[in-house]
Amino acid sequence: MNAPVNPKKLIKGATGDWEIVIGMEIHAQVTSQAKLFSGASTAFGGDPNSHVSLVDAAMPGMLPVINEECVRQAIRTGLGLKAQINLRSTFDRKNYFYPDLPQGYQISQYKSPIVGEGEVIVDVPETGETITVRIERLHLEQDAGKSIHDLHPTMSFVDLNRSGVALMEIVSKPDLRSADEARAYVTKLRTILRYLGTCDGDMEKGSLRADVNVSVRRPGEEFGTRCEIKNVNSIRFIGQAIEYEARRQIAILEDGGVIEQETRLYDPGKGETRSMRSKEEAHDYRYFPDPDLLPLEFDQAYVDELARHLPELPDAKKARFMSDYGLSAYDASVLVAERASADFFEEVAKGRDGKAAANWIINELFGRLNKEGKDITQSPVSASQLGGIIELIGENVISGKIAKDLFEIVFTEGGDPREIVEKRGMKQVTDTGAIEKAIDAVIAANPDKVEQAKAKPTLLGWFVGQVMKQTGGKANPQAVNEILKAKLGIE
Ligand code: ADP
Ligand code: MG
Repeated sequence: MNAPVNPKKLIKGATGDWEIVIGMEIHAQVTSQAKLFSGASTAFGGDPNSHVSLVDAAMPGMLPVINEECVRQAIRTGLGLKAQINLRSTFDRKNYFYPDLPQGYQISQYKSPIVGEGEVIVDVPETGETITVRIERLHLEQDAGKSIHDLHPTMSFVDLNRSGVALMEIVSKPDLRSADEARAYVTKLRTILRYLGTCDGDMEKGSLRADVNVSVRRPGEEFGTRCEIKNVNSIRFIGQAIEYEARRQIAILEDGGVIEQETRLYDPGKGETRSMRSKEEAHDYRYFPDPDLLPLEFDQAYVDELARHLPELPDAKKARFMSDYGLSAYDASVLVAERASADFFEEVAKGRDGKAAANWIINELFGRLNKEGKDITQSPVSASQLGGIIELIGENVISGKIAKDLFEIVFTEGGDPREIVEKRGMKQVTDTGAIEKAIDAVIAANPDKVEQAKAKPTLLGWFVGQVMKQTGGKANPQAVNEILKAKLGIE
């Protein structure tokens, strides 16, 4: 609790330093065909109210039936978060009124959730630190519908397509201490969900939303009163909302005021949070066990079977990339951030130089794809083409410089790298006779520079450049260097 605080994470107020404390509740839409308690489709973007069963519309007398696939996905997610899986959990009604909630209550899990305590290991790029964020719980609940207020001047509409879609609410302990850490946490959690295939993590479509709880305190003191910023739907906005909210609270406290616990909204246009309502307490919802649903029970063998079929997750993959291919922690993290990038890397690296593969993917391919607005799955250069380029460098057939030209050709025109090198005469010149000829020509044309270079050997680089120009970049740079030194009499 009272571990020394990294001073870089503190905020300087007018009256001294402050520390931010953040805990998050992430709503992740479960990847499933049908809703949590009905057979209606979960497909995104259908006509309004086209994916609504009688259960989702809360017609009297309808009974919810649990969708086993959603349960399976919640357990798999719990396993991915190294969490306690509860073999018995229960569903409760959380009562509140809203036009997009026809039941008048949300079926959720309150006292006994399906998943208990777990953890997420997070690399924070800005500080280089690795932190452990404890997970308090994961529970299953229904999503509500959507109210649409801006289609008509005097009327609002309700679209129940989302009503009843399964959500996993993943609650963290208040372990985060900066906007950077919060962003890194959500990014990592989303990566894990995507590896597991339990949530697509598409924040633009609302598949992943964050409620961000923020408070501030003097370093080492008790937690302060928090405000909850609801439904933030982008990682960038999460960071902005935290920065703004922390400064707002500090200003109030330094002015001698107190923080009211409340629910706030982040307005990305204004870059501000504003009050939505005073914070409701659990008793406001009159939670009680849903009489329509039996407790959810399964046995350990079922859990073990799901555990056996879990894919390799990002942390394990990162460790393996470091030990098997000798990658740095940084390169390994970049590659495992998306499963598709990690797979692409392994295809390139298999039987080749792993470090070279990582370098080419991270520095050249990602940069080039970015420029085209493409992701790795749309890469015009396949893993085997990139592998071919790396092989040609390794065999000294082409220089690193020519390899970049070759990469550009393959990226824009396609083709087999080895054939292109052959056809277009891109092979590196290692023939010392040819290199010597080029060097002699440069020396003959620049007698003044030769004198200068003898006095100032750093000028050698200029000669190397000239020779490379003469040979169209194809001379083996090492051979050029050696022959030049000998001819100029430089050690
Ligand atoms: P509630 O049930 O009222 O929503 P919880 O105890 O479940 O409250 O906490 C909700 C979220 O708020 C959790 O993610 C938790 O980590 C976070 N949280 C709790 N106390 C604080 C605090 N003082 N500052 C920041 N976040 C907090
Ligand atoms: Mg809560």
